[in-house]
Amino acid sequence: MADLIQENCCKCNIPFGIEAGHRRQLLERGGTFHCPNGHAQHYTDTKVKRLERDNLRLEESKDFYERMYRDQIKQTDHARRSAASYKGQVTKAKKKALQQLGALKVIKGGRQ
Ligand SMILES: [Zn+2]
Repeated sequence: MADLIQENCCKCNIPFGIEAGHRRQLLERGGTFHCPNGHAQHYTDTKVKRLERDNLRLEESKDFYERMYRDQIKQTDHARRSAASYKGQVTKAKKKALQQLGALKVIKGGRQ
């Protein structure tokens, strides 16, 4: 004997049985069924619709994380270039300071 699941018509509220396998199929794929008084009805949220929504959310998350990853790569690259630039400026300032120190020694040496 088939398992019957009780449903109530969304229009006239009459209780009626729907075979479990058929109900599962309607929940998974959608489709219209009728109460004994002939009112058409369907389940509003099918498994396929839920999976499609989940898939869309996953795609959006994937896009978000890919954009975040690309932004991180850009920021890291920018930070590397900045560090190299500062290192160059420090080297240049060090060299200039050493040259000035050398010139100062020459001046001081000349006074003695
Ligand atoms: Zn009905």
